[in-house]
Amino acid sequence: MSLYTLIDKHLLLPLADRLTGRGIAREWQLMTEAEKLKGSQLEQLQNSRMQRLILHCYNKVPYYRNLFRQLNLTPNDFQTREDLQKLPILTKQIVRDHFEELKADNIGDYKVLHGSTGGSTGTPMQFIKSIESWNMQWASNFRAWEWYGFHLGEKIFTLGGNSLVKKDKSPTKKDIFDTVIMRNLKRSSAEVDDEAMQAHYEAFMKYKPHALRGYASSLVIFARYIEKNNLPVCPIKVILTTGEMLMPDYRLTLERVFRCKVYDGYGAGDGGIGAMECELQQGLHLSEERCIVEITDKSGKLLPDGETGFVVTTDLGNYAFPFLRYQVGDMAYLQKEKCACGRPSRVLGQVMGRAGRLLYNKQGVPISPTMLPIMLYRNNDYHNEENCVIYNKIDRFQIRQDKEGDIRIFLMLKDKSEPHEQFEYILDNYRNHFKGSAVSLEFVDNIPLLPSGKEDYCVSEYKFEK
Ligand SMILES: [Zn+2]
Repeated sequence: MSLYTLIDKHLLLPLADRLTGRGIAREWQLMTEAEKLKGSQLEQLQNSRMQRLILHCYNKVPYYRNLFRQLNLTPNDFQTREDLQKLPILTKQIVRDHFEELKADNIGDYKVLHGSTGGSTGTPMQFIKSIESWNMQWASNFRAWEWYGFHLGEKIFTLGGNSLVKKDKSPTKKDIFDTVIMRNLKRSSAEVDDEAMQAHYEAFMKYKPHALRGYASSLVIFARYIEKNNLPVCPIKVILTTGEMLMPDYRLTLERVFRCKVYDGYGAGDGGIGAMECELQQGLHLSEERCIVEITDKSGKLLPDGETGFVVTTDLGNYAFPFLRYQVGDMAYLQKEKCACGRPSRVLGQVMGRAGRLLYNKQGVPISPTMLPIMLYRNNDYHNEENCVIYNKIDRFQIRQDKEGDIRIFLMLKDKSEPHEQFEYILDNYRNHFKGSAVSLEFVDNIPLLPSGKEDYCVSEYKFEK
């Protein structure tokens, strides 16, 4: 551990907390201790935090005061996290319709941040969160980064869209946090042409970061540029991906180009949810201290572990604008077993991304988005070298499912003159997974990216009601 890390962790961060009225260092300390809890102790911690939040909602939040009255519930009815099921699901539509009533009467007592969910996956939704929720988010990130041997105070180079890289005109307190505490150099992934990529590359090489962080697909586009141009890279310790699903082939590409491990994280600022891979990489450890996560069907009924459903969260840190049982919009499942690393938190299996961006077969089974690129490899095998050679001829892809459930695969090749027949096996792979759907393969000159710079690999008009 470097001297800067020690100074940063034990002096600069607590000092910044004091100056800005935040409390990340304290929360980080609490989270590090919570990691050592045994048996049901972590659940007890959650329950007591939940009871406190429920009492607050009952006394101070008009929306919940009315709801509890209608349902004839009092705070005493909420002893354990299972009791949350007595409440209905909070949807984005309800938040939009009851925005004013969701504000706590004493919202002025809290330091708050205003946020909005992205519009790319539906109508944007405004929300407010207490600074405590934000503290918990960073504390859980810092805790997980230490699992990978990466420490606060080591340099980070971030490539991402608006949620990671905000463009502010004048320097703010947040800029000081970014540059001095986080040592985070941020670049926007919105532009992806060669000129922008070269500028990113030069900034990256000059900065010599210890970690590379960003949207998985933005980092992959960067990696492909480096590989295509045979550029040398400076050694980095770790790659931290967030903000979208990490495809298995993305992980391979990043690890090949940057010669270090990739660790994935999942988070949704609106829901106060965070989950991070540990060093064993067998799923995503929930930050249970900050959030109670349930996996439910559409009606809000809890699903058994192992079954994929809607991610529903209760943010234990947001007192200004509380969300109880909020449906984030992503789908995921909880693993049946705890992780072998011994940490007490429950583990999310794959997060399947936004519910509206999921493809279903005609039998109604969702196809994991991570399967979509895997099915572009012969025999679905991405460990075979020869298969990789063919796959690597694809520059970008997009899978579209139409209203009838039929599948159109669009491929943009690196070299347009490549014979098309060599990709025909892809049709069989997709037909096997989408039984009963017509599948077609089309070669196109361009597949536009989303405005954030993320790849738009999956488009669905097919509504399968679960
Ligand atoms: Zn683990």
